[in-house]
Amino acid sequence: LTADAQAVVDEIEEKNVDFLRLQFTDILGTVKNVSVPADQAEKAFSEGIYFDGSSIEGFVRIQESDMRLVPDPDTFAILPWKNSEEHASGRLICDVINTSTGEPFEGDPRRVLKNALERAEELGYTVNAAPEPEFFLFEEDEDGRATTKTSDAGGYFDVAPKDLASDVRRDIIYGLEDMGFEIEASHHEVAQGQHEINFEYDDALSTADNVATFRTVVRAIAAEHDLHATFMPKPIPRINGSGMHTHISLFEDGENAFHDEDDEFDLSDTAHSFIAGILEHAPALAAVTNPTVNSYKRLVPGYEAPVYVAWSDRNRSALIRKPAARIPAASRIEARFPDPSCNPYLAFAALIHAGLDGIERDLDCPDPVRENIYEFDEEKREEYGIDTLPENLGEAVDELEADETIYSALGEHVGPKFVEAKNQEHEDYLVDVSDWEIDRYLETF
Ligand code: GLU
Ligand code: MG
Ligand code: MG
Repeated sequence: LTADAQAVVDEIEEKNVDFLRLQFTDILGTVKNVSVPADQAEKAFSEGIYFDGSSIEGFVRIQESDMRLVPDPDTFAILPWKNSEEHASGRLICDVINTSTGEPFEGDPRRVLKNALERAEELGYTVNAAPEPEFFLFEEDEDGRATTKTSDAGGYFDVAPKDLASDVRRDIIYGLEDMGFEIEASHHEVAQGQHEINFEYDDALSTADNVATFRTVVRAIAAEHDLHATFMPKPIPRINGSGMHTHISLFEDGENAFHDEDDEFDLSDTAHSFIAGILEHAPALAAVTNPTVNSYKRLVPGYEAPVYVAWSDRNRSALIRKPAARIPAASRIEARFPDPSCNPYLAFAALIHAGLDGIERDLDCPDPVRENIYEFDEEKREEYGIDTLPENLGEAVDELEADETIYSALGEHVGPKFVEAKNQEHEDYLVDVSDWEIDRYLETF
Protein backbone atom coordinates (compact mmCIF):
# COMPACT_ATOMS: atom_id res chain seq x y z
CA LEU A 1 0.00 0.00 0.00
CA THR A 2 1.04 3.60 -0.51
CA ALA A 3 1.77 5.64 2.60
CA ASP A 4 -1.49 7.56 2.13
CA ALA A 5 -3.52 4.39 1.83
CA GLN A 6 -1.80 2.85 4.87
CA ALA A 7 -2.60 5.97 6.90
CA VAL A 8 -6.28 5.53 6.03
CA VAL A 9 -6.21 1.84 6.96
CA ASP A 10 -4.69 2.78 10.34
CA GLU A 11 -7.28 5.49 10.92
CA ILE A 12 -10.08 3.04 10.12
CA GLU A 13 -8.74 0.74 12.83
CA GLU A 14 -8.23 3.52 15.37
CA LYS A 15 -11.66 5.10 14.97
CA ASN A 16 -13.63 1.84 15.08
CA VAL A 17 -14.93 2.17 11.56
CA ASP A 18 -17.17 -0.84 10.81
CA PHE A 19 -18.32 -0.03 7.31
CA LEU A 20 -16.85 1.79 4.38
CA ARG A 21 -18.91 3.42 1.71
CA LEU A 22 -17.13 3.40 -1.61
CA GLN A 23 -18.56 6.36 -3.49
CA PHE A 24 -18.69 7.36 -7.15
CA THR A 25 -21.24 9.11 -9.38
CA ASP A 26 -23.15 8.15 -12.49
CA ILE A 27 -23.29 10.48 -15.47
CA LEU A 28 -26.34 12.27 -14.09
CA GLY A 29 -24.30 13.15 -11.00
CA THR A 30 -26.23 10.90 -8.64
CA VAL A 31 -23.99 9.67 -5.87
CA LYS A 32 -23.78 5.88 -5.77
CA ASN A 33 -22.08 3.78 -3.20
CA VAL A 34 -21.15 0.26 -2.36
CA SER A 35 -20.80 -0.52 1.32
CA VAL A 36 -18.09 -2.96 2.38
CA PRO A 37 -16.99 -4.14 5.84
CA ALA A 38 -14.05 -2.03 6.98
CA ASP A 39 -11.70 -5.03 7.00
CA GLN A 40 -11.88 -4.91 3.19
CA ALA A 41 -10.06 -1.55 3.16
CA GLU A 42 -6.65 -3.00 2.44
CA LYS A 43 -8.00 -5.08 -0.39
CA ALA A 44 -9.91 -2.09 -1.76
CA PHE A 45 -6.70 -0.09 -1.95
CA SER A 46 -4.55 -2.86 -3.37
CA GLU A 47 -6.93 -4.57 -5.79
CA GLY A 48 -10.11 -2.54 -5.87
CA ILE A 49 -13.65 -3.74 -5.28
CA TYR A 50 -15.59 -5.28 -8.16
CA PHE A 51 -19.13 -4.16 -8.90
CA ASP A 52 -21.71 -4.57 -11.62
CA GLY A 53 -21.55 -1.44 -13.77
CA SER A 54 -24.53 -2.39 -15.91
CA SER A 55 -27.00 -1.14 -13.33
CA ILE A 56 -25.45 2.32 -13.13
CA GLU A 57 -26.95 4.99 -15.37
CA GLY A 58 -24.88 5.51 -18.48
CA PHE A 59 -21.96 3.36 -17.46
CA VAL A 60 -21.79 0.28 -19.64
CA ARG A 61 -23.66 -2.20 -21.73
CA ILE A 62 -24.78 -5.37 -19.98
CA GLN A 63 -22.16 -7.57 -21.66
CA GLU A 64 -19.26 -5.57 -20.26
CA SER A 65 -20.51 -5.03 -16.79
CA ASP A 66 -17.55 -5.76 -14.51
CA MET A 67 -16.09 -2.59 -13.11
CA ARG A 68 -13.63 -2.04 -10.35
CA LEU A 69 -13.67 0.74 -7.74
CA VAL A 70 -10.31 2.00 -6.52
CA PRO A 71 -10.54 4.41 -3.58
CA ASP A 72 -8.66 7.71 -3.55
CA PRO A 73 -7.06 7.84 -0.07
CA ASP A 74 -7.20 11.67 -0.04
CA THR A 75 -10.97 11.48 0.19
CA PHE A 76 -11.37 9.48 3.40
CA ALA A 77 -13.91 10.89 5.86
CA ILE A 78 -16.02 9.62 8.73
CA LEU A 79 -19.76 10.06 8.16
CA PRO A 80 -20.86 12.40 10.95
CA TRP A 81 -24.44 11.14 11.05
CA LYS A 82 -23.38 7.52 11.50
CA ASN A 83 -20.69 8.12 14.05
CA SER A 84 -20.36 6.87 17.62
CA GLU A 85 -17.36 5.89 19.69
CA GLU A 86 -17.85 2.16 19.15
CA HIS A 87 -19.23 2.19 15.62
CA ALA A 88 -18.46 4.55 12.80
CA SER A 89 -18.90 4.52 9.04
CA GLY A 90 -16.39 5.96 6.66
CA ARG A 91 -16.48 6.88 3.04
CA LEU A 92 -13.96 7.01 0.23
CA ILE A 93 -14.45 8.49 -3.22
CA CYS A 94 -13.33 6.06 -5.90
CA ASP A 95 -12.02 6.03 -9.42
CA VAL A 96 -13.68 3.51 -11.70
CA ILE A 97 -11.44 1.05 -13.54
CA ASN A 98 -12.45 -0.97 -16.56
CA THR A 99 -11.62 -4.56 -15.60
CA SER A 100 -11.08 -5.79 -19.14
CA THR A 101 -8.41 -3.19 -19.94
CA GLY A 102 -7.20 -2.32 -16.44
CA GLU A 103 -7.40 1.34 -17.52
CA PRO A 104 -9.49 4.14 -15.99
CA PHE A 105 -13.06 3.83 -17.24
CA GLU A 106 -13.85 6.69 -19.66
CA GLY A 107 -17.48 6.68 -18.56
CA ASP A 108 -16.53 7.75 -15.04
CA PRO A 109 -17.35 11.47 -14.63
CA ARG A 110 -14.37 11.88 -12.30
CA ARG A 111 -12.19 10.64 -15.17
CA VAL A 112 -13.78 13.18 -17.52
CA LEU A 113 -12.78 15.98 -15.15
CA LYS A 114 -9.27 14.55 -14.77
CA ASN A 115 -8.92 14.66 -18.56
CA ALA A 116 -9.84 18.36 -18.52
CA LEU A 117 -7.31 19.03 -15.78
CA GLU A 118 -4.64 17.16 -17.73
CA ARG A 119 -5.30 19.38 -20.72
CA ALA A 120 -4.95 22.44 -18.46
CA GLU A 121 -1.69 21.05 -17.13
CA GLU A 122 -0.32 20.57 -20.64
CA LEU A 123 -0.92 24.28 -21.15
CA GLY A 124 0.87 24.99 -17.85
CA TYR A 125 -2.15 25.61 -15.62
CA THR A 126 -3.68 24.22 -12.50
CA VAL A 127 -7.35 25.00 -11.90
CA ASN A 128 -9.04 26.11 -8.70
CA ALA A 129 -12.78 26.17 -8.23
CA ALA A 130 -15.28 27.16 -5.56
CA PRO A 131 -19.04 26.70 -5.80
CA GLU A 132 -21.90 28.53 -4.10
CA PRO A 133 -24.62 25.91 -3.88
CA GLU A 134 -28.08 27.18 -2.99
CA PHE A 135 -30.87 24.92 -1.79
CA PHE A 136 -34.32 24.92 -0.22
CA LEU A 137 -35.34 23.28 3.04
CA PHE A 138 -38.89 22.00 2.86
CA GLU A 139 -41.15 20.25 5.33
CA GLU A 140 -42.08 16.61 5.04
CA ASP A 141 -45.68 15.42 5.13
CA GLU A 142 -47.02 12.75 7.56
CA ASP A 143 -45.65 10.01 5.33
CA GLY A 144 -42.19 11.54 5.36
CA ARG A 145 -42.44 12.67 1.74
CA ALA A 146 -41.04 15.98 0.58
CA THR A 147 -43.43 18.91 0.14
CA THR A 148 -42.74 22.43 -1.13
CA LYS A 149 -43.94 23.96 2.15
CA THR A 150 -41.71 26.02 4.33
CA SER A 151 -42.57 27.45 7.73
CA ASP A 152 -39.59 29.73 7.46
CA ALA A 153 -40.44 33.33 6.64
CA GLY A 154 -36.88 34.62 6.42
CA GLY A 155 -35.32 36.49 3.52
CA TYR A 156 -31.86 37.47 2.38
CA PHE A 157 -29.34 37.54 5.27
CA ASP A 158 -32.12 37.48 7.87
CA VAL A 159 -31.18 36.28 11.32
CA ALA A 160 -33.06 34.15 13.86
CA PRO A 161 -35.77 33.97 15.12
CA LYS A 162 -37.25 34.73 11.71
CA ASP A 163 -34.75 32.37 10.16
CA LEU A 164 -36.22 29.23 11.73
CA ALA A 165 -33.91 27.03 9.77
CA SER A 166 -30.75 28.55 11.24
CA ASP A 167 -30.48 25.67 13.75
CA VAL A 168 -30.66 23.18 10.96
CA ARG A 169 -28.14 25.12 8.95
CA ARG A 170 -25.82 25.16 11.96
CA ASP A 171 -26.07 21.37 12.30
CA ILE A 172 -25.42 20.99 8.58
CA ILE A 173 -22.31 23.14 8.94
CA TYR A 174 -21.07 21.08 11.92
CA GLY A 175 -21.60 17.95 9.82
CA LEU A 176 -19.69 19.39 6.90
CA GLU A 177 -16.87 20.52 9.18
CA ASP A 178 -16.67 17.03 10.65
CA MET A 179 -16.14 15.78 7.12
CA GLY A 180 -13.26 18.15 6.58
CA PHE A 181 -15.01 21.09 4.90
CA GLU A 182 -13.82 24.60 5.59
CA ILE A 183 -16.96 26.67 5.65
CA GLU A 184 -16.52 30.27 4.56
CA ALA A 185 -20.00 31.63 5.09
CA SER A 186 -23.62 30.67 5.18
CA HIS A 187 -26.73 32.73 4.89
CA HIS A 188 -30.42 32.72 4.33
CA GLU A 189 -31.01 33.34 0.62
CA VAL A 190 -33.57 35.62 -0.99
CA ALA A 191 -36.48 33.18 -1.10
CA GLN A 192 -38.37 31.76 1.86
CA GLY A 193 -36.82 28.47 2.86
CA GLN A 194 -33.76 29.08 0.67
CA HIS A 195 -30.19 28.82 1.92
CA GLU A 196 -26.62 29.03 0.78
CA ILE A 197 -23.47 27.59 2.31
CA ASN A 198 -20.11 28.47 0.83
CA PHE A 199 -17.02 26.43 1.32
CA GLU A 200 -13.35 27.12 0.73
CA TYR A 201 -11.99 26.85 -2.81
CA ASP A 202 -9.75 23.94 -3.73
CA ASP A 203 -8.33 22.33 -6.85
CA ALA A 204 -11.19 21.60 -9.25
CA LEU A 205 -11.18 17.83 -8.67
CA SER A 206 -11.41 18.14 -4.88
CA THR A 207 -14.11 20.78 -5.31
CA ALA A 208 -16.20 18.48 -7.52
CA ASP A 209 -15.77 15.72 -4.91
CA ASN A 210 -16.84 18.25 -2.29
CA VAL A 211 -20.00 19.21 -4.19
CA ALA A 212 -21.04 15.55 -4.40
CA THR A 213 -20.36 15.14 -0.68
CA PHE A 214 -22.02 18.44 0.17
CA ARG A 215 -25.33 17.42 -1.37
CA THR A 216 -25.29 14.10 0.48
CA VAL A 217 -24.47 15.69 3.86
CA VAL A 218 -27.01 18.51 3.52
CA ARG A 219 -29.78 16.05 2.68
CA ALA A 220 -28.85 13.60 5.43
CA ILE A 221 -28.70 16.22 8.18
CA ALA A 222 -31.84 18.02 7.02
CA ALA A 223 -33.59 14.64 7.17
CA GLU A 224 -32.58 14.30 10.83
CA HIS A 225 -34.65 17.44 11.40
CA ASP A 226 -37.56 16.02 9.37
CA LEU A 227 -36.82 18.47 6.57
CA HIS A 228 -36.16 17.78 2.93
CA ALA A 229 -33.23 19.61 1.38
CA THR A 230 -33.57 20.02 -2.36
CA PHE A 231 -31.08 21.14 -4.98
CA MET A 232 -33.78 21.26 -7.63
CA PRO A 233 -33.11 24.54 -9.49
CA LYS A 234 -36.62 26.04 -9.42
CA PRO A 235 -38.93 24.28 -6.96
CA ILE A 236 -41.35 27.22 -6.69
CA PRO A 237 -42.36 29.32 -9.69
CA ARG A 238 -42.10 33.11 -9.69
CA ILE A 239 -39.58 33.39 -6.88
CA ASN A 240 -35.78 32.97 -6.93
CA GLY A 241 -34.45 29.57 -7.89
CA SER A 242 -31.27 27.87 -6.71
CA GLY A 243 -28.01 28.39 -8.56
CA MET A 244 -24.56 27.01 -8.06
CA HIS A 245 -22.35 29.93 -9.03
CA THR A 246 -18.91 28.56 -9.76
CA HIS A 247 -15.77 30.58 -9.18
CA ILE A 248 -12.79 29.55 -11.28
CA SER A 249 -9.17 30.65 -11.45
CA LEU A 250 -6.08 29.35 -13.20
CA PHE A 251 -2.64 29.26 -11.65
CA GLU A 252 0.65 29.17 -13.53
CA ASP A 253 3.90 28.43 -11.67
CA GLY A 254 2.13 29.08 -8.38
CA GLU A 255 0.89 32.53 -9.46
CA ASN A 256 -2.67 33.53 -10.23
CA ALA A 257 -2.82 33.62 -14.05
CA PHE A 258 -6.03 35.67 -14.07
CA HIS A 259 -4.56 38.73 -12.35
CA ASP A 260 -3.14 41.75 -14.10
CA GLU A 261 -3.17 45.02 -12.21
CA ASP A 262 -2.49 47.04 -15.37
CA ASP A 263 -5.81 45.97 -16.83
CA GLU A 264 -8.93 48.06 -16.34
CA PHE A 265 -10.65 45.10 -14.71
CA ASP A 266 -7.51 43.66 -13.08
CA LEU A 267 -7.84 40.69 -15.41
CA SER A 268 -5.03 39.21 -17.50
CA ASP A 269 -5.29 38.42 -21.21
CA THR A 270 -5.53 34.78 -20.14
CA ALA A 271 -8.59 35.57 -18.05
CA HIS A 272 -10.17 37.62 -20.84
CA SER A 273 -9.71 34.75 -23.31
CA PHE A 274 -11.01 32.25 -20.75
CA ILE A 275 -14.16 34.36 -20.33
CA ALA A 276 -14.50 34.65 -24.12
CA GLY A 277 -14.30 30.86 -24.43
CA ILE A 278 -17.08 30.35 -21.89
CA LEU A 279 -19.25 32.98 -23.59
CA GLU A 280 -18.74 31.39 -27.00
CA HIS A 281 -19.62 27.91 -25.77
CA ALA A 282 -22.31 28.97 -23.27
CA PRO A 283 -25.34 27.60 -25.21
CA ALA A 284 -23.73 24.14 -25.38
CA LEU A 285 -22.37 24.33 -21.84
CA ALA A 286 -25.90 24.91 -20.56
CA ALA A 287 -26.82 21.30 -21.34
CA VAL A 288 -24.16 20.21 -18.85
CA THR A 289 -24.31 22.99 -16.24
CA ASN A 290 -28.13 23.21 -16.36
CA PRO A 291 -29.08 19.65 -17.24
CA THR A 292 -32.72 19.31 -16.19
CA VAL A 293 -36.02 20.42 -17.68
CA ASN A 294 -36.50 22.45 -14.52
CA SER A 295 -33.14 24.25 -14.92
CA TYR A 296 -34.64 26.43 -17.67
CA LYS A 297 -37.37 27.71 -15.38
CA ARG A 298 -34.63 29.31 -13.30
CA LEU A 299 -32.91 30.92 -16.31
CA VAL A 300 -35.57 33.58 -16.83
CA PRO A 301 -35.33 37.36 -16.34
CA GLY A 302 -35.88 38.89 -12.93
CA TYR A 303 -34.60 36.36 -10.41
CA GLU A 304 -30.86 37.05 -10.26
CA ALA A 305 -30.17 34.16 -12.62
CA PRO A 306 -28.57 34.81 -16.01
CA VAL A 307 -30.40 34.61 -19.31
CA TYR A 308 -28.11 36.55 -21.60
CA VAL A 309 -24.65 35.65 -22.80
CA ALA A 310 -22.53 38.52 -21.52
CA TRP A 311 -20.06 39.23 -18.76
CA SER A 312 -19.89 42.05 -16.28
CA ASP A 313 -17.54 43.43 -13.68
CA ARG A 314 -20.48 44.26 -11.42
CA ASN A 315 -23.87 43.24 -12.76
CA ARG A 316 -25.57 40.11 -11.46
CA SER A 317 -27.78 39.68 -14.50
CA ALA A 318 -24.73 38.63 -16.56
CA LEU A 319 -23.62 35.08 -17.25
CA ILE A 320 -20.14 35.72 -15.91
CA ARG A 321 -19.22 38.23 -13.26
CA LYS A 322 -15.84 39.34 -12.08
CA PRO A 323 -16.05 39.44 -8.29
CA ALA A 324 -13.93 42.02 -6.47
CA ALA A 325 -10.74 40.34 -5.24
CA ARG A 326 -8.96 41.69 -2.16
CA ILE A 327 -5.61 40.16 -3.10
CA PRO A 328 -4.17 39.23 -6.52
CA ALA A 329 -4.16 35.52 -5.64
CA ALA A 330 -7.95 35.68 -5.25
CA SER A 331 -8.56 36.91 -8.82
CA ARG A 332 -11.21 34.74 -10.36
CA ILE A 333 -14.30 34.70 -12.49
CA GLU A 334 -17.77 33.69 -11.34
CA ALA A 335 -19.88 31.64 -13.76
CA ARG A 336 -23.43 32.40 -12.62
CA PHE A 337 -25.40 30.02 -14.83
CA PRO A 338 -24.62 26.55 -13.37
CA ASP A 339 -27.25 25.13 -11.04
CA PRO A 340 -26.93 22.50 -8.32
CA SER A 341 -28.70 19.78 -10.33
CA CYS A 342 -25.58 19.44 -12.48
CA ASN A 343 -23.02 16.69 -12.29
CA PRO A 344 -20.17 18.76 -10.82
CA TYR A 345 -17.46 16.66 -12.50
CA LEU A 346 -18.95 17.07 -15.96
CA ALA A 347 -19.91 20.71 -15.41
CA PHE A 348 -16.42 21.73 -14.26
CA ALA A 349 -14.83 19.69 -17.06
CA ALA A 350 -16.99 21.42 -19.68
CA LEU A 351 -16.38 24.90 -18.24
CA ILE A 352 -12.62 24.31 -18.14
CA HIS A 353 -12.50 23.02 -21.73
CA ALA A 354 -14.53 26.04 -22.89
CA GLY A 355 -12.19 28.48 -21.16
CA LEU A 356 -9.04 26.69 -22.36
CA ASP A 357 -10.40 26.74 -25.88
CA GLY A 358 -10.69 30.52 -25.53
CA ILE A 359 -7.05 30.68 -24.38
CA GLU A 360 -5.74 28.37 -27.11
CA ARG A 361 -7.54 30.31 -29.81
CA ASP A 362 -6.61 33.61 -28.18
CA LEU A 363 -10.23 34.75 -28.35
CA ASP A 364 -11.02 38.42 -27.86
CA CYS A 365 -13.30 39.19 -25.00
CA PRO A 366 -16.21 41.57 -25.60
CA ASP A 367 -16.64 44.60 -23.32
CA PRO A 368 -18.40 43.97 -20.04
CA VAL A 369 -22.02 45.02 -19.81
CA ARG A 370 -22.72 47.26 -16.86
CA GLU A 371 -26.43 47.87 -17.23
CA ASN A 372 -29.17 45.54 -16.11
CA ILE A 373 -29.50 43.27 -19.14
CA TYR A 374 -32.94 42.08 -18.01
CA GLU A 375 -34.17 45.51 -19.05
CA PHE A 376 -32.69 45.39 -22.56
CA ASP A 377 -35.09 44.87 -25.43
CA GLU A 378 -34.19 42.71 -28.40
CA GLU A 379 -32.90 45.64 -30.41
CA LYS A 380 -30.54 46.73 -27.68
CA ARG A 381 -29.31 43.18 -27.21
CA GLU A 382 -28.60 42.96 -30.89
CA GLU A 383 -26.73 46.25 -30.79
CA TYR A 384 -24.54 44.86 -27.98
CA GLY A 385 -24.26 41.47 -29.73
CA ILE A 386 -25.77 39.64 -26.76
CA ASP A 387 -26.99 36.09 -27.32
CA THR A 388 -29.47 34.28 -25.08
CA LEU A 389 -29.08 30.94 -23.36
CA PRO A 390 -31.18 28.02 -24.67
CA GLU A 391 -34.80 28.27 -23.59
CA ASN A 392 -35.22 24.63 -22.71
CA LEU A 393 -33.35 21.37 -22.26
CA GLY A 394 -34.09 20.19 -25.80
CA GLU A 395 -32.49 23.28 -27.32
CA ALA A 396 -29.51 23.00 -25.01
CA VAL A 397 -28.88 19.39 -25.97
CA ASP A 398 -29.01 20.35 -29.68
CA GLU A 399 -26.44 23.07 -28.98
CA LEU A 400 -24.28 20.54 -27.17
CA GLU A 401 -24.34 18.10 -30.06
CA ALA A 402 -23.45 20.89 -32.49
CA ASP A 403 -20.50 22.13 -30.42
CA GLU A 404 -17.54 19.86 -31.09
CA THR A 405 -15.41 21.35 -28.28
CA ILE A 406 -17.94 20.79 -25.51
CA TYR A 407 -19.33 17.54 -26.85
CA SER A 408 -15.86 16.01 -27.07
CA ALA A 409 -15.01 17.43 -23.64
CA LEU A 410 -17.37 14.81 -22.25
CA GLY A 411 -15.45 12.03 -23.97
CA GLU A 412 -16.53 9.32 -26.37
CA HIS A 413 -18.38 7.38 -23.74
CA VAL A 414 -20.18 10.06 -21.75
CA GLY A 415 -21.02 12.40 -24.68
CA PRO A 416 -23.47 10.12 -26.53
CA LYS A 417 -24.91 8.61 -23.32
CA PHE A 418 -25.51 12.05 -21.87
CA VAL A 419 -27.21 13.32 -25.02
CA GLU A 420 -29.39 10.24 -25.21
CA ALA A 421 -30.45 10.45 -21.55
CA LYS A 422 -31.19 14.17 -21.76
CA ASN A 423 -33.13 13.97 -25.02
CA GLN A 424 -35.22 11.23 -23.44
CA GLU A 425 -35.81 13.40 -20.36
CA HIS A 426 -36.94 16.34 -22.47
CA GLU A 427 -39.24 14.20 -24.64
CA ASP A 428 -40.77 12.69 -21.53
CA TYR A 429 -41.53 16.18 -20.30
CA LEU A 430 -43.02 17.29 -23.62
CA VAL A 431 -45.66 14.57 -23.65
CA ASP A 432 -46.60 15.11 -20.03
CA VAL A 433 -49.58 17.22 -18.94
CA SER A 434 -48.72 19.57 -16.10
CA ASP A 435 -50.77 20.93 -13.19
CA TRP A 436 -50.55 24.34 -14.83
CA GLU A 437 -52.40 23.04 -17.90
CA ILE A 438 -55.07 21.35 -15.81
CA ASP A 439 -55.62 24.53 -13.76
CA ARG A 440 -55.75 26.67 -16.87
CA TYR A 441 -57.76 24.57 -19.30
CA LEU A 442 -59.74 21.80 -17.63
CA GLU A 443 -62.69 23.95 -16.69
CA THR A 444 -62.25 26.54 -19.46
CA PHE A 445 -62.80 24.24 -22.37
N1 GLU B 1 -30.55 32.49 -6.52
C1 GLU B 1 -29.91 33.21 -7.59
C2 GLU B 1 -29.69 32.27 -8.78
O1 GLU B 1 -30.56 31.58 -9.14
C3 GLU B 1 -28.61 33.82 -7.19
C4 GLU B 1 -28.65 34.78 -6.04
C5 GLU B 1 -27.25 35.27 -5.70
O2 GLU B 1 -26.75 36.18 -6.35
O3 GLU B 1 -26.64 34.66 -4.79
O4 GLU B 1 -28.65 32.20 -9.37
MG1 MG C 1 -26.47 33.13 -3.58
MG1 MG D 1 -22.44 34.37 -6.18
